[in-house]
Amino acid sequence: MDLDWLCLNGTLVRPAEGTVPAVSQGLLYGLGLFETFRARGGRVFRLERHFERLCQGAGILRLPVPVTFAALEASVVALTARCSLEDARLRLTVAAGASDSEAIWLVTIRSPDDYPETLYSQGIAVVVASVRRNEGSPLTRVKSLNYLDNLLARREARRSRAQDAILLNSAGFVAEGSGANLFAIRGRELATPPVEDGALPGITREAVMELAGEAGLTAIEKSLSIDEVATADEVFLTNAVAGVLPAVRLNEASIGRGTPGPLTRALGAAYLRAVTAL
Ligand code: PMP
Repeated sequence: MDLDWLCLNGTLVRPAEGTVPAVSQGLLYGLGLFETFRARGGRVFRLERHFERLCQGAGILRLPVPVTFAALEASVVALTARCSLEDARLRLTVAAGASDSEAIWLVTIRSPDDYPETLYSQGIAVVVASVRRNEGSPLTRVKSLNYLDNLLARREARRSRAQDAILLNSAGFVAEGSGANLFAIRGRELATPPVEDGALPGITREAVMELAGEAGLTAIEKSLSIDEVATADEVFLTNAVAGVLPAVRLNEASIGRGTPGPLTRALGAAYLRAVTAL
């Protein structure tokens, strides 16, 4: 396995050889977008949805999309093969160039080994971040390179020895995790905050809502207070790299029984079946 490769504008290069314009709007203003996803055997679950979300974001930021879906798919296959990585986490970055009518695209690769099995069998601890999500900003619905609120929230979690942080919006309702959507189960109801509350329209969120019926759950979007999360039967986070990640502690207190619940485990298994059946 040699992970020291990336794909810059469609060409596989060594990271040291990949150069981008120093004076670019991407670097100066964070004008750009990214997507993260997991490839198993070179195949990505709902890659087309990631590409669509990127294109929607590009419309909002008025950024050109310099990559076609076919070129993206080919780059994923080429990069995972070159690195001999059967199970890979990848990131597509589109960043504006010197003028905002130009853009570069970059695909980078890493191993998903920071999501070990113990996180799923034991669950993770989360804290409430002090940074708030501005649900009124158009950037909330865009996965932009302007990711610093999320980074600050994540660092705050790490300082508290938790794995992730929950961001509340300016009205005090739950928006999401620092890089993941949040779900709370109460009885047979599976609830997640609406996008209007400051949640990214997650691709995994969408898939999990579709799979809810298989676990005997009814999925709804509704505003959630942090108390509703603290007193839920089960809570979990979702993103395309981690899948379904049980959260078992909130600010030092147990959620439910303090161990991954049966419905979260059933949904996690259903999601894993869907992503490995490609
Ligand atoms: N919210 C944020 C802020 C994220 O960065 C991510 C990861 N892309 C998600 C939610 C989950 O989205 P997805 O399921 O598409 O990975």
